[in-house]
Amino acid sequence: MPEINHIHLATDKGEIYCCLRNRVVVLDEDHRSRFCSSCKMYNGDAGGKGVECVWNDQRDVSDPHLVTDPYKEWVENQKRKDSAFPSTNPSSFATI
Ligand code: SF4
Repeated sequence: MPEINHIHLATDKGEIYCCLRNRVVVLDEDHRSRFCSSCKMYNGDAGGKGVECVWNDQRDVSDPHLVTDPYKEWVENQKRKDSAFPSTNPSSFATI
């Protein structure tokens, strides 16, 4: 599995897909300090426009992999994490 740099550009609502939490989150100071600051996947702030995260990605994606739609990215990541896709658990879409 290749190590891929995922560049998550925050939406106009400040949302990104977080691999660690496997959900769409608001990339605010709370998330950065509670999760990103100690996350081994952290790889930068995308030039102040979001967050960069490196992980072994089983999908056939480019490196770097640019993410502008966090919900689409969430769906795509359930395919690799859950063989029972599609998931019917709407709570995973929750934004915190
Ligand atoms: S660095 Fe870790 S905690 Fe922060 S958004 Fe990326 S995967 Fe989530």
